[in-house]
Amino acid sequence: TEGERLTDVVEPRLKDVLLTARMEQALSDVEHGKRGPSEVMDMFHREALRIPADATANLKADAVTRTTNTDAQEWGDCPRCGQPVRKTGRMWQCSTNKTEKTKDGKWATTAGCGWKMFARIAGKTITDQTARRLLAGQSVTLKGFTSKSGKKFDAAIRIDKERGTAFDFDR
Ligand SMILES: [Zn+2]
Repeated sequence: TEGERLTDVVEPRLKDVLLTARMEQALSDVEHGKRGPSEVMDMFHREALRIPADATANLKADAVTRTTNTDAQEWGDCPRCGQPVRKTGRMWQCSTNKTEKTKDGKWATTAGCGWKMFARIAGKTITDQTARRLLAGQSVTLKGFTSKSGKKFDAAIRIDKERGTAFDFDR
């Protein structure tokens, strides 16, 4: 029937985003002849037009969660601009940074000074304790980094204003 075809068209692409109870009801109405397929198709088209906006709203909410999720701990000052550093997820970054999820699902820094330091460097996890020492300006020697070719090595790292962290091979 027309209603079933409609379900075929709509479901694979839009089910998760779109098929609210209301839409399910509309489809059911078409199947039972209570509503015309074109009326419901119009309704779907209108809903479909709203998807990009809704998706963006969700992503914004995500970003807000991420920002408010940061702990209240003092990590020190941003090496680039002097504002406080925060830990967000698996990185430390300047509290002026605003991070938003882009449409392709990647996180991008959309505002702020941009300084960030990842909690994993060359296969090695940076602990909170290490991060504190780094942010206090120390050079910290860590064992067990893994190079791109798979070789283990020990090295000192330090904060780098441009790159977040840098290996300190001068020591
Ligand atoms: Zn900064």
